[in-house]
Amino acid sequence: MARKPGPGTCVHCLKHADKRNWDHVFPQGWYPDTTPQNLEKWKIPSCKLCNDEYGRIEDELRIIFSTCIDPTSARASGIWAKTLRALDPRRAKNEKDRRARAEKKTQLLAKMLKGDAIPDQAIYPGLGERWDRPRGDQIAISVPANHLKKVVEKVIKGLAYIEDGRLIDAEMEITHHVVDQTGAKPIEELLAAFGANHSRGPGIEVSRAVTPEDGISAVYKITIWGEIVMYATVLPKSTQQSNELDA
Ligand SMILES: [Zn+2]
Repeated sequence: MARKPGPGTCVHCLKHADKRNWDHVFPQGWYPDTTPQNLEKWKIPSCKLCNDEYGRIEDELRIIFSTCIDPTSARASGIWAKTLRALDPRRAKNEKDRRARAEKKTQLLAKMLKGDAIPDQAIYPGLGERWDRPRGDQIAISVPANHLKKVVEKVIKGLAYIEDGRLIDAEMEITHHVVDQTGAKPIEELLAAFGANHSRGPGIEVSRAVTPEDGISAVYKITIWGEIVMYATVLPKSTQQSNELDA
């Protein structure tokens, strides 16, 4: 897969591109040190614009998420160390790089909330306080919801392309469901009954159940570093709308 994919459709934006790159479905930097050496890392053909945009989003999300996870977990091994390196000005190659690292650190600190400033209703399921610190000592960090949605879309489009050779077009709606264990029950039940495991080593777990009717409508569960759990569905847009009307 070393050669570039050449001209064709970008799996993300579905536009034709004369030049495409191999885009990692999960960025290289998200795989923990405990990932088996011989694991095949999923790649999909992408236009440069989408590839660059995802690169920025994923870099930012890795830094944000790495502050929320247990750094001693084998499933997240080396991820926090990467963030420390990315922010360390002493590792800068030149002045521009040093400024970029300082800027990343400033941006990260600006996203931090402490104690009573943390809104209870906005805490991502499973990522609430797990260290029993008093409220005043708790620290939270805000995550751009749109970036999470983009990552979910990428994994789903990537897997559909790699496993089924399918592109997910504008007729289909990908929805990221931010739900707790109770809310996730219908998806968990479908996965338990019909799901297939597509995990990429200990740090990146993906399971999905695809309906045989159209081979593309599906439920997905994506777990990063054993802690960040994202549920999603893929449904035809017409179904989506009628479901909303029923509700
Ligand atoms: Zn594109």
